[in-house]
Amino acid sequence: MVGAGVAGAAIARALADKGWQVDVFEQAATPAAGASGVPIAVVSCHVSVDDNPLSQLTRAGVQRVLAFAEKHLVKGQDWLDCGVLERRLDGHSKKKTWQAVTADSVWHGWVSTPTALQLAQAGLDLNAAHDQLWQARGAWIKPLSLIQALLNHPSIHFQGGQTLKATEVAALGYPTVVLALGAHTSDFLADLPHAPDLALVPVAGQISWGLHDATNKAFPAFAVNGYGGFVNHVPTAEGWAWYSGATFHRGQTGAKVTPQDHAENYAKFQQLLPQAARQLEAQWRTPDSLRGWSGVRCTSVNRMPVCRALNPAKLPSWYVLTALGSRGLTLAMVCAERLALEIELGSD
Ligand SMILES: Cc1cc2nc3c(=O)[nH]c(=O)nc-3n(C[C@H](O)[C@H](O)[C@H](O)COP(=O)(O)OP(=O)(O)OC[C@H]3O[C@@H](n4cnc5c(N)ncnc54)[C@H](O)[C@@H]3O)c2cc1C
Repeated sequence: MVGAGVAGAAIARALADKGWQVDVFEQAATPAAGASGVPIAVVSCHVSVDDNPLSQLTRAGVQRVLAFAEKHLVKGQDWLDCGVLERRLDGHSKKKTWQAVTADSVWHGWVSTPTALQLAQAGLDLNAAHDQLWQARGAWIKPLSLIQALLNHPSIHFQGGQTLKATEVAALGYPTVVLALGAHTSDFLADLPHAPDLALVPVAGQISWGLHDATNKAFPAFAVNGYGGFVNHVPTAEGWAWYSGATFHRGQTGAKVTPQDHAENYAKFQQLLPQAARQLEAQWRTPDSLRGWSGVRCTSVNRMPVCRALNPAKLPSWYVLTALGSRGLTLAMVCAERLALEIELGSD
């Protein structure tokens, strides 16, 4: 296994649970050094009127990661199934209006119209309920906690400080290799003869965050997304934290916190949750009280994860799991378990 982000940790765990011994090589000293170092992540399903493959995969993904969290993480500390209010905003234009979900719909139990109380908590217009979706099974999760729990298995051997090139991995002589290098995957594959061009696109981004008073009642008791996102009341070593963002810079590979990205996050936040944005305006204007985190995720051309054998004819037993986009925490475990099954069948 190369890479110890959420993809690498999930595939290591899926294989270890099947009885494999797994060595995980990671260039940093500790796991979650890449995009998976994002301090908070929203877990939710992708909603589409035609229930497209990404929607189906994300529903399976939400179920899988939250079942693992329930068993291995501390609710309220590492994750919380607080629900997610999805605003149907996309810049200045509204997405197609969502129809009410009937009992025979695949969305039943997943998506509904928010209640008046939920809209009031978010400070939104009570008459605009049909412009929003309520995802009852949505959650926030701390990626580092999840990754540590995934790697915490007697058959997984983490080896930090190992920046491997393709030729070095080939020379190690492992019977099976899985690449989970996130946005570094293309560079790695460029040195590997017979590797396909996966046409991956790096997308740099930043979130803004800060601390807030425990008694703050102006924030909703759930996560909100749709045009940037907002999560609050997250316990950290320094106190309760809120998180807002993120930005998207397609094609960029540099991860640097900038005032411009803070400003972009605030502009989105003002549209997403005007009431909460007003509450935080002073804090947002005070550099000392505003924190940032940036990283680079990676997507594929069709926005689906890349979860497959690399080139079965020329590179037997080489696999890849990447392009988790902005939904890596939702997708990693379900994709990893499908890939582990493929690997097991391929090794018989
Ligand atoms: C600003 C921002 C906000 C986000 N918000 C959310 C969110 O709310 N919800 C959500 O689900 N997702 C979110 N994401 C996306 C999520 O972070 C990613 O989908 C996920 O972390 C990708 O995981 P990965 O394991 O594929 O890649 P990474 O986490 O990048 O892992 C790749 C690992 O490979 C290592 N590596 C690279 N090259 C080598 C080498 N040669 N040798 C050894 N090791 C190597 C790296 O150090 C790294 O640890 C966000 C991402 C960003 C940037």
